[in-house]
Amino acid sequence: MNCTTEKCYRDTELYLCTECILEFDELLKDVPALIELLAGARAGTAVVRKPGSSVGGGPQGSRPPGSLDAMMLQAWLSQLPTRAHAAAMDNPDAGQWLYMARIWIQQARDLVWGQEEKRVYGPCETGPCMEPLSAGPDAVSVKCRNCKTVHNIPDLIDRLKQKAKGEPMPPRETREFLQKEARVFIVKKDFENWVQLGKLDPVIRVDEAGKERKMYYPGDVLKVFQEMRDRRRVKAS
Ligand SMILES: [Zn+2]
Ligand SMILES: [Zn+2]
Repeated sequence: MNCTTEKCYRDTELYLCTECILEFDELLKDVPALIELLAGARAGTAVVRKPGSSVGGGPQGSRPPGSLDAMMLQAWLSQLPTRAHAAAMDNPDAGQWLYMARIWIQQARDLVWGQEEKRVYGPCETGPCMEPLSAGPDAVSVKCRNCKTVHNIPDLIDRLKQKAKGEPMPPRETREFLQKEARVFIVKKDFENWVQLGKLDPVIRVDEAGKERKMYYPGDVLKVFQEMRDRRRVKAS
C-alpha cells in the first residue's frame, strides 16, 4: 500500500513509509521538552521575542507569547503519539498526524525558542539580576550579559521545568485546573489510583482553616496522565 502522508506515495507495509517514520520520530523527540517549555511560556518565564523588537512584540505583526497559543499548542502536542513506529503500525491516520505534527511542533518551537537562531531561557535570577538569558541552539552554557554569571543550559531547562509544575492544589482543583487549562480530563478514580500507586508525591500545605491538606502539582499530574495514556496505547497496539 501507499504511505498515508499527503503527497508521499511511497510504497510501504505500514501506514507510514520509512522516510516518514524517521521524520516523525525526529519531530516527536522535541515534544516532551516543548510541552514543559510551553508551560513556562504560559507562566511568563520563557521570554519570547523577535529580533529587534521590544519585549511584548514589535509593530510588524509580531506579538507576545499569547498564553492561549501556548495553552492550545500544549494540548495539541499532548495528543501526538509518542513513537512514530507504533503510529505507523496501528494508526490508519498516521499520515495526517505527521502532517499536524509538522505544523504544531514548528509553531511550538517558534513560540518557546523564537524564530531567530537564539533560544531564550528566562531571566538570570542571580541575586537581583533579571537579565534575559539567550543562547544559540548548540550552546551548552550561557553567560549573563549583566552580572557575568555563567549558567549551564541543562540547569536552566530544569528551572523552567520546575516553574512549569505550577502551584500545588488539592486533588479536585488539580483535576479541574487541568481540564480547563490543558483539556485533559482525569476522573477521580484514576487520580486516586495514581496516588495509591505512589506515582504522585503530595506536598502538605495548611489551608485557611488550619487543616493539613495534601496538594499536588498540576504539572506532575499531567506527566502521570501522559505516561498512563502512552502505556495504554502500547498495550492496545
Ligand atoms: Zn511517506
Ligand atoms: Zn545576571
